[in-house]
Amino acid sequence: MPIQNDRLTDTIGREKTLALQQWAEFPDVHILRGDQLHPVVSGNKLFKLEPLLAHAVRTGRKAAISVGGRYSNHLHALSWAARESGLDSIGLIRGFPEQPLTPTLQDCQEWGMQLHFIPPGEYRKRHLPAFWQPWLTAYPDSIRIDEGGWSAAAIEGSARWWHYIPGDARNVVCAVGSGCTLAGLLSHVPQGVRVVAVPVYRDRNAYAGLLTKLVHAGIDTSALALVTDLPNRGFGKLTGEQRQFKNDFEHETGIPLDPVYTTKVLHAVRQQLLQSSADLQGKTVVIHTGGLQGNRQG
Ligand SMILES: *Cc1c(COP(=O)(O)O)cnc(C)c1O
Repeated sequence: MPIQNDRLTDTIGREKTLALQQWAEFPDVHILRGDQLHPVVSGNKLFKLEPLLAHAVRTGRKAAISVGGRYSNHLHALSWAARESGLDSIGLIRGFPEQPLTPTLQDCQEWGMQLHFIPPGEYRKRHLPAFWQPWLTAYPDSIRIDEGGWSAAAIEGSARWWHYIPGDARNVVCAVGSGCTLAGLLSHVPQGVRVVAVPVYRDRNAYAGLLTKLVHAGIDTSALALVTDLPNRGFGKLTGEQRQFKNDFEHETGIPLDPVYTTKVLHAVRQQLLQSSADLQGKTVVIHTGGLQGNRQG
């Protein structure tokens, strides 16, 4: 059982249900409106952060330190959730201090996050202990939260998605950033259900890296279907076709998509269904993981 952080748990809503909206074009496909989980920090981030911050509070820590880009949904959610938990937050941001603050970082700052900018060459070392050491020294009594929250606790927290997924779903589709949400889904997948994962980056080596990461975390990947044959301009970038799709989808369904994750996921689902509907048979639930704050920067 994940440790509960009462304030955050109450905010997320222990008994809350999420709307499941049918996609008129593909009646077997239903979109789970995780974007409506919370008005400020929507989607999957609170599931990951809640157990991490609960642990921090319980062990008497004062702050949480984490990493992310200038448009990071993760840092955005962390700054809010840390404040809600009575903790300070420190964001190590890929970029330069002279760049103008994005709307994302303006919110982070307003919610009390201390921002430090790390040049890209240095930021690349964020997986190494040496990257973190000076910050953990500068901010004693803080917890380190890896990119995307990746940790056993956040994986367990991400399994809470199953609470909202109907029992007759045959396929569950999610975006892959750090892979934490995917790992949580796989760790509690019911028999006979497939977890279809759509990575949002371009680098093919990262696909192998993802599988290694899952295996190292002890995750059984037998239910995983990884979609790898996507047109992809790389993290945070949409092709012209994907941009057009975003507009059309939002117009037709009334469901807003974010530009980094969910646009690519829904576009990929549509491609799969148009090309070879045999791949996605039966009821398919696509998780809307939120991220709508990212639309503010066009
Ligand atoms: C962070 C994020 C993801 C990726 O989640 P991971 O657990 O890091 O794989 C997916 N969708 C949205 C909207 C996000 O903000």
